[in-house]
Amino acid sequence: MNSKFPELLVPSHILSIKPYVPGKPIEELEREYGISGSVKLASNENPLGPSPKAVKAMESALGSLHRYPDGGAFGLTRILSEHLGLPPEMIVFGNGSDELIGLLSHAFLRPGDEVVLPRPSFLIYEIMTRSMGAVPVPVPLKSLSIDLDAIIDAITPNTRMVFITNPNNPTGTIIRKEKLPSRVMLVVDEAYIEFVRDDACAVGTDYLYGPNPVAVLRTFSKAYGLAGLRIGYGVMPEEIRSLLNRIRMPFNASTLAQVGAGAALKDSGFLEKTLRVVHEGLEYMFSALAALGLTSFPTQSNFFLIDLKRDADEVFEKLLRRGIIVRSMASYGYPEYIRVSVGLPEENERFVNALKSTLCQ
Ligand code: PMP
Repeated sequence: MNSKFPELLVPSHILSIKPYVPGKPIEELEREYGISGSVKLASNENPLGPSPKAVKAMESALGSLHRYPDGGAFGLTRILSEHLGLPPEMIVFGNGSDELIGLLSHAFLRPGDEVVLPRPSFLIYEIMTRSMGAVPVPVPLKSLSIDLDAIIDAITPNTRMVFITNPNNPTGTIIRKEKLPSRVMLVVDEAYIEFVRDDACAVGTDYLYGPNPVAVLRTFSKAYGLAGLRIGYGVMPEEIRSLLNRIRMPFNASTLAQVGAGAALKDSGFLEKTLRVVHEGLEYMFSALAALGLTSFPTQSNFFLIDLKRDADEVFEKLLRRGIIVRSMASYGYPEYIRVSVGLPEENERFVNALKSTLCQ
């Protein structure tokens, strides 16, 4: 690549990174397509918005924003520790769970190390792996599920870390309580775990006291409705947590994030309402889409895949013109699938009607 700044000697592993492309903000899409009142079912967010109790708590913290946050997140750590039934020494917060993926990569990966990860899955694993000069070793899904046997088979003496996503994004499938990879740092990303209804689902925190190093990542961005606030957490053995504390920025969880997340955790009524809306929304969409003759894939999350049996990018564009924003899965290797997040009942209905009109065009 021709660079204006050759003296910077940018490492080739940084140049090899393809930037993450997040879902566009609703305002930008509306401007671009000249539409208004659109429905965004593209980023697996909470359709109810944030918990009103979290909003109130953050409002009352506004007057103290001239002070730095509590770098140790004392209050929030205590609330979460009680919520999880795990010691505060095992908990660390991040600017979204994204940041914790970066911190774990930073702490454990050297150039040339191998990192086993499912594909397709959350793209940040691969980006953070490459950012350390380490080598992603992608393991394809099997029938849309993470293939644990193939993941275990992919581990070599050079493997330093394994990522698994439970439930997986973009497929919504879970890992069952089976054997987990051993002898390597295992990162279990549970961004959507609150939505799971299947009792057979493995839960990463059950493995924290085992012989192998495990870090469980969760977030306030999905079921807790605080994606814009940027706060997630990791639960891991104290020794690993203390390594992350050496390298994280001291104020990576803002005052508002700490206050908002603490209030959201205490608002169990809001979480229950969220799960009800999501599960009822899934039921409605699955039966409405089946009536259209479409295949939707079972999910344990707040999003699901639909097989359109035609070009997903084209349908995505047409839906956009009708004010409905979903995700085409073409860039994830599923050229005829879209991923749809569950919205409010009226949003789900608008989506189904728009899809029906689009497919009949
Ligand atoms: N993991 C998975 C599987 C995700 O889908 C996401 C969000 N898209 C994240 C982690 C990151 O969440 P956040 O940084 O908002 O906590």
